[in-house]
Amino acid sequence: VLRYFDEKCRRSKQLARAAADVIPGGIQHNLAFNYPFPLAMSSAKGAYFTDVDGNRYIDFLKAGGPTLLDSNNEVVRQKVHQVLDNCGPVTGVLHEYEVKLAQLVCEAMPSIEMFRMLGSGTEAVMAAIRLARAHTGRKWIIKIGGAYHGWSDQMVYGMRIPGTGRREAVGIPRQATAFIQERFPNDLDALRRTLWLNRLRGGTAAIIVEPLGPESGTRPVYRDFNRELRKLCDEFNALLIFDEVVTGFRVGMGGAQGYFGVKPDITVLGKCLTGGYPMAGGIGGSRDVMMLLAGGIGTTSKRAFVGGTLSANPLSAAAGYFSIQEMQRTHAAVHAGRAGDRLRRGLDEIIRRLNLPYVAYNQGSIVHLQTSAVMLMSMRNPIKVMREATTRKHVMEEMGAAFSAHGIITIAGSRIYTGLADTDAVIDDALNRFEDVLKL
Ligand code: PMP
Repeated sequence: VLRYFDEKCRRSKQLARAAADVIPGGIQHNLAFNYPFPLAMSSAKGAYFTDVDGNRYIDFLKAGGPTLLDSNNEVVRQKVHQVLDNCGPVTGVLHEYEVKLAQLVCEAMPSIEMFRMLGSGTEAVMAAIRLARAHTGRKWIIKIGGAYHGWSDQMVYGMRIPGTGRREAVGIPRQATAFIQERFPNDLDALRRTLWLNRLRGGTAAIIVEPLGPESGTRPVYRDFNRELRKLCDEFNALLIFDEVVTGFRVGMGGAQGYFGVKPDITVLGKCLTGGYPMAGGIGGSRDVMMLLAGGIGTTSKRAFVGGTLSANPLSAAAGYFSIQEMQRTHAAVHAGRAGDRLRRGLDEIIRRLNLPYVAYNQGSIVHLQTSAVMLMSMRNPIKVMREATTRKHVMEEMGAAFSAHGIITIAGSRIYTGLADTDAVIDDALNRFEDVLKL
């Protein structure tokens, strides 16, 4: 693997060296698979990437989720170009595509009566928490731990790394997370106890969860977990926030809420919302809750302020509108889901045939490859799963580098996003490559 990177990726290596000089860690976003060094891509088409050295890869990174249609969708790109040609990237005033996008989002997810676009998933989560607190007049937020909800002070990884006592992020005063509580996924008893306790000290504003389980289902929740959360929230008058940054439009047009048939009070969107174009963030919910953002306008005088110079700019709003329209027209989530199923079945078959200590599982287009039966353990022992997932991370990263050397880009070797462009032929090609690595 290291020889591949040395011999075949010389220009990437040069760029990575130059980057490390002027960019902390040599990467601008944490997604970059950076072992032994990040590969620099020069073009993208359909299911494939080509790097600066001319090597071709199957793109299962999907930029971390958003490019469900593919990295460089022709239809969307042309439409976005037209909007750009007409009015440039931003006007600062109302533009027709922000209305059209909001209408599309409200149609796709019935729990959303009103929608507000923001700059990123991180911002949208911050806004959701503010809204929940403003609406309920309470301060406690319970987070299903191990999830990534963006990098705000309140939400960034707080869970201590099992076995080390270290936190995953520093530079955050304890007070900033004073009213944030983390509970392990699938532990309803602990949640109930926390809700009771909070009732004695002002009450819980919201429970926030990634509906597939933390890290897009890397630490999976059992099927009825979201339904149970809904019931608990109703019982304790707390709001339920679904962080659908990854799942929105990817699991289906109706997101994970459509899939599980559970209606959250607030939905956080990102990624697929703009199909990979910038400023991918938004929140939606009932009119009642969302009107708090308007403050003074219409029915309420309380105001939960959010801002954003570039929020819902014509480029992002049009990209969102045309991307979602194209996802609808092509049934992208269904096709990507089938590709995910085919890939998981193939991986399962390889794992069984070669008798490997791995497990593959998927939720439609979100496919996981883990070194042990994380999914089974999570039902019984969430702490063990957390420890397992953390200690095995480096193994999967090395695996990721091996996959890259065989022409497949994944998220750190353990997560794969499929998309519309992943035809049976692409998946079968990928499975051959996966097998080449897994049998080593
Ligand atoms: N929530 C979830 C579930 C995410 O996966 C992410 C990003 N990976 C975020 C929030 C933050 O989104 P962004 O990177 O756009 O700030």
